[in-house]
Amino acid sequence: MPEELHRGALYVVGTPIGNLADLTPRATAILSGVDAILAEDTRRTRALLTHAGIHATLERFDDVTSASRTPRVVERLAGGETLALVSDAGMPGISDPGAPLVAACRDAGIEVVPIPGPSAAVVALAASGLPTHAYYFAGFPPRKPGKRAKLLDALEPLNATLVFYESPLRVARLCAELAERFPQRTGVLARELTKLHEEIVRLPLPELAADLAARPSIKGECVLLVSP
Ligand code: SAM
Repeated sequence: MPEELHRGALYVVGTPIGNLADLTPRATAILSGVDAILAEDTRRTRALLTHAGIHATLERFDDVTSASRTPRVVERLAGGETLALVSDAGMPGISDPGAPLVAACRDAGIEVVPIPGPSAAVVALAASGLPTHAYYFAGFPPRKPGKRAKLLDALEPLNATLVFYESPLRVARLCAELAERFPQRTGVLARELTKLHEEIVRLPLPELAADLAARPSIKGECVLLVSP
């Protein structure tokens, strides 16, 4: 039986991180049924919807617009509209816009319904072969050296696998810094997950750093993981 949508709820919908076949049937049904979809990038989401045969109203909801639009979105939900929130890829709010809207909805007593999809951090962790009993999701590390050093100081004593998001342009440098600090640990680069050129390399961190440094360029989206 098709799922009945809850009036006045915000659906937080996970979308593929590369492979469009990873859009779940439940996500497809929800995105088809809501009054409107709040999307980080309407053009990108339109391409996904077209691929999935979904006709829906899209509204921009990105880092620039989200703060000013949140009060009105909450009002609309309180008035009975049913909305979905998506980001460009993966779970909204995870290194993506959306978390403050979800908090505002919860503060206002509005129902928030998660529709799970992939998230690069968890997908990488699950395939890394590194311990999964505990992990620390660091997101994108700060670029300023002082803040970066402070973060690494704080992470050093954790008995947890460390998970970083990083741009392909900066991932070799991050790996080199981590190798210098944690030479005994194992590193994993998970690149282009679920896509044609998916690559998952697991090596002692100094070897991984040397491998990345030797590449003429690194392309695609990257997650870097470090063993406890
Ligand atoms: N909301 C997303 C999620 O749930 O994973 C994350 C969005 S964040 C703006 C984008 C970063 O996630 C990329 O820079 C990369 O570090 C990571 N990422 C996203 N898709 C990926 C993929 N297919 N393979 C590897 N890393 C990916």
